[in-house]
Amino acid sequence: MLLPPAAGAAGAPPGPVRAVSASEARTAQYLDSLRGDPGRLRGFFRRMPKGADLHNHLTGAVSTEYLVKLAAERGLCIDTATVTALAQASGQPCKAGARPAADARTDRSFHDAIVRAWSMQDFPQGGNGHDHFFAAFKKFGPVVWQDRGKLLAQVANGVAEQNQFYLETMVSPASQEANGLADRVGWDADFARMHGKLTAGGKLDKVVAAARKEADDTDAQFRAVNHCGTAKARPGCDLAVRWVSQVGRTGSSQRVFTQLALGMRLAERDNRFAAVNLVQPEDEKNALNNYSQQMRMIKYLRGVYPRAHVTLHAGEVWPGLVKPEELKSHIRQAVHTARAERIGHGVGLVHEDHWQDTARTMADREIAVEVPFTSNAQILKVRGSDHPFATYRHFGVPVVLATDDPGISRTDISTEYQHAAETYDLPYPELKDLARASLEYAFLPGTSLWRDNPTSDGYRPAKACDTAQVGAVKPTGPCERLLKSSPKASAQWRQEAAFTHFENRAGATG
Ligand SMILES: [Zn+2]
Repeated sequence: MLLPPAAGAAGAPPGPVRAVSASEARTAQYLDSLRGDPGRLRGFFRRMPKGADLHNHLTGAVSTEYLVKLAAERGLCIDTATVTALAQASGQPCKAGARPAADARTDRSFHDAIVRAWSMQDFPQGGNGHDHFFAAFKKFGPVVWQDRGKLLAQVANGVAEQNQFYLETMVSPASQEANGLADRVGWDADFARMHGKLTAGGKLDKVVAAARKEADDTDAQFRAVNHCGTAKARPGCDLAVRWVSQVGRTGSSQRVFTQLALGMRLAERDNRFAAVNLVQPEDEKNALNNYSQQMRMIKYLRGVYPRAHVTLHAGEVWPGLVKPEELKSHIRQAVHTARAERIGHGVGLVHEDHWQDTARTMADREIAVEVPFTSNAQILKVRGSDHPFATYRHFGVPVVLATDDPGISRTDISTEYQHAAETYDLPYPELKDLARASLEYAFLPGTSLWRDNPTSDGYRPAKACDTAQVGAVKPTGPCERLLKSSPKASAQWRQEAAFTHFENRAGATG
């Protein structure tokens, strides 16, 4: 078997030799002076602008303490044996073997037991992190079935406070309605006929309407709890957010197809929705058996909904978790059959057949890989040199750092950057380009501030801005017009301005 190249193995770093400005060099020096001092590194990465979080599941991103608080406010009960929140009418007493979540307000050990069950807090090194991680979603399920606006407010405030400029977060839109429709229509292996049955008589459009209403309600609740538009507005009010529609890959074929069609139809009709993504454990029996069929569904639906974006969890598998034959082609199929624009995780890359060809295709097509280090270590026990982070970079594949489920993982994006810096010894300019990549490969509408393929050619301003001082307070002329017409370029400009500020301060205090 061919081994993946180690970082820098080919004698040169990936990509072009990057020109480094004086302020970047000063900041790099300052960062190097902090290495070995985790506390001060933490402060550095917290302040550093960090682009966007492109791989974030809303319910897994909410802090566990906040979920416990919500459970108590709603009067929910907790089954004490399984530490599972129970769905029940409010005001009802808890059944035998359960106690009110509100007890967690005064009983510290009860509170902490819930936190450990609903997250990776204190999870033992040798334990089955994969199962504990995925089980958490079920345990707190009834807490997150409603009040999506509150959950988004909590998550968006955290993202803005981490000096990020944009969030794509995954939710399951109108999931009851979508599954109800799927089960009524049933399965038809002829995709065109299946899609026709879903849309006949406006059936799918009713689910689209329900999802848009849900998004309206979420927006209203988000703005209310965050005091948006008032003097007390919280930081999340200014954050650009778009939804990625989750599709549960362990479900029946009719449910998967219906959720995909719904998510893609939504992405074409409502610009709050950007894309679809397949979620749930990729190693689950149905997910494995139906993997190829699901890739073909996406290929077909991309023809019907060409403007909907697609990002896919693929290669979130590792030897020992699945049989060798099940490691061979998930990323490849997501790239070649489903033509995913981004890949989530991609951890199993080097265990696939023809993986170098897949990596080269990803580099050529600028298919970014979304990397959440903490999640990969907790779920797959893959970290350090086992992780294909350096391999993707070696092949010139765009890499974006992400959090996945920071609530369950007990992490944040600053930790992920710090991990990259410490584990792979990345210099400051490369960390800065990782932050730029996360906006470049975001599903934000509009043209980029940068020229084509910055991963291979470096971040050079687009023609409209090539005479402007990127990140200056006020752009003028054609550059100003580009920023006005493009939400993507405008977010990128804001980040560049934040970098100017950050580098001036970091250099001065170093
Ligand atoms: Zn994920």
